[in-house]
Amino acid sequence: MKQNKVVIFFLGTLLASIIIANIISYENKAKNNRQLAIASQNAVANEKEKNNSTKTANDSKNTDCKNKKCIALTFDDGPSKYSNEILDILKSNNAKASFFYIGAHLSSHVNEVKRTSTEGHDIGNHTWDHINLNKIADTQLQDQINRTNDEIARITGQKPVLLRPPFGSLSSDRFSLIGKMSVVQWSVDPDDWKDKDANVIYDRVMQAVANGNIVISHEIYQSSIDAYKRIIPDLIKQGYSLVTITDMFDIDLADPLLKAYYSTNKIL
Ligand SMILES: [Zn+2]
Repeated sequence: MKQNKVVIFFLGTLLASIIIANIISYENKAKNNRQLAIASQNAVANEKEKNNSTKTANDSKNTDCKNKKCIALTFDDGPSKYSNEILDILKSNNAKASFFYIGAHLSSHVNEVKRTSTEGHDIGNHTWDHINLNKIADTQLQDQINRTNDEIARITGQKPVLLRPPFGSLSSDRFSLIGKMSVVQWSVDPDDWKDKDANVIYDRVMQAVANGNIVISHEIYQSSIDAYKRIIPDLIKQGYSLVTITDMFDIDLADPLLKAYYSTNKIL
């Protein structure tokens, strides 16, 4: 009987040891799995961080225009058959610009509009059919802007926050009609619609331009495109960063200020 008790005690102890060893091994495995999961989460987070910072560097957003010389080039009246050409010039110089599109032109240039957006340029509203906003009724004004915003948002997924009124014509007492948008005017105008000569346009821009300026041009003339083939690399050689309007003025896409931007020195 005494021997049996010893055997039972021995077997009991052995069984208990096996159970405890299994529990410890299970817990260790679980701990290892948790550590693996955390490590892989960290790897994903690091990869995301890396992608974000690469994107920021490539699309030259968040440029420090307080300490760097910046110019915002703007192109009106597209999208057009010239859109790809100006986008190619910008891309090969790693430069950004802002495009103010006419609503009625959008549906025949959907690919160009998408490209403008994916390559990191600003797309702004230039009304549905290039109308003088000061000469129409309030409801018509809102219709011109909303229709164009909706069509741009449908194509790019991003509702514009910038408005360039045709002819720069929008009196400040009508700002409240445009909703959450910023008005973009300009401080350098080479009159490229009037004098369709690439050399003249080049000279006017290069002579007038200074840090913090907004330059207005039109993407619908070959002479303008030819001028910017030289203007863009030459401004970069002079040390300018060519940036979007939202970048230069640090405009909050979710909550743009109801202001009129002419240059970094003139904001009304
Ligand atoms: Zn225009």
